[in-house]
Amino acid sequence: MDFKLSKEQILIQSTAREFAEKYLEPIAERIDRENHIPEDIISKLADYDFFALPYEEKYGGAGAGYDGYVLVLEQLSKVCKPIASIISVNTLGLGAITKFGTEFQKEKYLGPCCKGEWLASFAFTEPGTGSDPKQITTTAVKQGDHFILNGTKRFISNATFKGPMVVFARDQESGKPTAFIVDKFCAGYSVSEPWNKVGLHGQALSDVYLKEVQVPAENLLGQLGHGYPILQYGIGFGKIGMAASALGGMASALEESLKYAKEKTHRDGVIAKFPTIQVKLADLAISLEAARWLTYRLGCMANDIQDQIEFIKTAALTKTFVTEAAWIASRLAVDVHGSYGLMEDYKVARSYRDAITGPIVEGVTDMQKMIIAGILLGS
Ligand SMILES: Cc1cc2nc3c(=O)[nH]c(=O)nc-3n(C[C@H](O)[C@H](O)[C@H](O)COP(=O)(O)OP(=O)(O)OC[C@H]3O[C@@H](n4cnc5c(N)ncnc54)[C@H](O)[C@@H]3O)c2cc1C
Repeated sequence: MDFKLSKEQILIQSTAREFAEKYLEPIAERIDRENHIPEDIISKLADYDFFALPYEEKYGGAGAGYDGYVLVLEQLSKVCKPIASIISVNTLGLGAITKFGTEFQKEKYLGPCCKGEWLASFAFTEPGTGSDPKQITTTAVKQGDHFILNGTKRFISNATFKGPMVVFARDQESGKPTAFIVDKFCAGYSVSEPWNKVGLHGQALSDVYLKEVQVPAENLLGQLGHGYPILQYGIGFGKIGMAASALGGMASALEESLKYAKEKTHRDGVIAKFPTIQVKLADLAISLEAARWLTYRLGCMANDIQDQIEFIKTAALTKTFVTEAAWIASRLAVDVHGSYGLMEDYKVARSYRDAITGPIVEGVTDMQKMIIAGILLGS
C-alpha cells in the first residue's frame, strides 16, 4: 500500500492544473453564462492528450492509465466541470469499446477519439427509462449484413460531436438489450435542440432520433443479447469520470470557502473565527479527503481489473459516495458564503448547480445502492 503520488503522477497533475488555470479559468464563467463551450478548447484539450489518457499507445492513447485520468479530471473539473464532463463521456464510450470491441472497432474508433477529432457517446436512456434495461424500446432488426435501428434516446451527452455512439437496443433475435456502435450523423441519425438544464452549462445534452439507421454487422459490440453486462461493466468506466469530476467540485468548494472565510469580516474580525464556519471547513476537508482516496483507488483498480464484479461494485460505491458528498459540499460552501453564495457572481453558486447532476447521471444513487446490495448478497 502506497499513498504517495509517483513523479509521473505529480507531473500529470501539475500539467492539468496549469492547463486549467491558463485556459479554463478565463472562460469558465462565460461558458456557464452563455451555455456554450468554444470549439477551440476541444483542440487544446487534445493537444495535451486529455482525451487519450487511459488508452494504450498502439491505439493512439497516451498510456497514462486511469490513475492519470482521475488526476487530470479532478484538476479540470475544479475549474470547469462541463469540460471535464465532455472528457468523461468520451471515456465512457471508449471504455466500453476498449473492453468489448473487436480489434477492428478499437483501431477504427480509438485513434480519432484520442485526438479529439471525434468524441464518443454512450446512449442508454430513453423517454421511458434511464434505470431499467428491461424497458428499452429501441429496436434492432437484422437485415442481410446490417442491423436496422429505430428509437429515441434521451439526455445524450456528446451527441452533437461526430464519432462513435454506443447504443443499446433490443435486438429481434435475442429479444434482449444489445450494444451497437453507431456512427453519429450517419443517415437516419438526428438530434433535438439541447435541453436547458440547471447545471453543467455548455455541455450539450440532446435527444437522439434513430430512424431506420443502418448499422453494419461488424459494429455489433460484444454479442447479441449481451447488452446488460456491457452496460453494467462499461458504465463503470463512466463512473470513474463522474467521481473524479465531483472530486474537483469538492476541492473548489473547500478552496472558495477557505478564501471567503478569511476575507469576509463581521464586527472586528473575519468569519473564519466563528466555530460554525470552522466546523463547515472541517467537514469539507474530511469529505474531500475520503472522496479523493476512493476515487484514486478506483482509477488504479481500472488499470488492471482482476475481478469484474469487484470493479462494478467499487465503481458504484465510489460514484455514489463522491457525487453525494460533492453535492453536500457544494451546499456547505454556499452556506459559508451566506446570501452571496446564491449570487451568480460567486463560483460556489455555479458549483452548486453543477453538483446536483452527479448523484443522478449514469445511474441514480438508489439504483447504485441496489447494485451494491445485489453484489453483496450474491443475487
Ligand atoms: C447532464 C446529464 C447527462 C446525461 N448523459 C447521458 C448519456 O450520455 N447517456 C445516457 O444514456 N443517459 C444520460 N443521461 C441520463 C441519465 O443517466 C438518466 O436520466 C438517469 O440514469 C436516470 O434515469 P431517468 O431520468 O430515466 O430516471 P428513472 O429511471 O425514471 O428513475 C426515476 C426515479 O425512479 C427510481 N426507479 C426507477 N426504476 C426503479 C426500480 N426498478 N427500482 C427502484 N427505483 C427505481 C429511480 O431511483 C429514480 O429515483 C444524462 C442525464 C443528465 C442530466
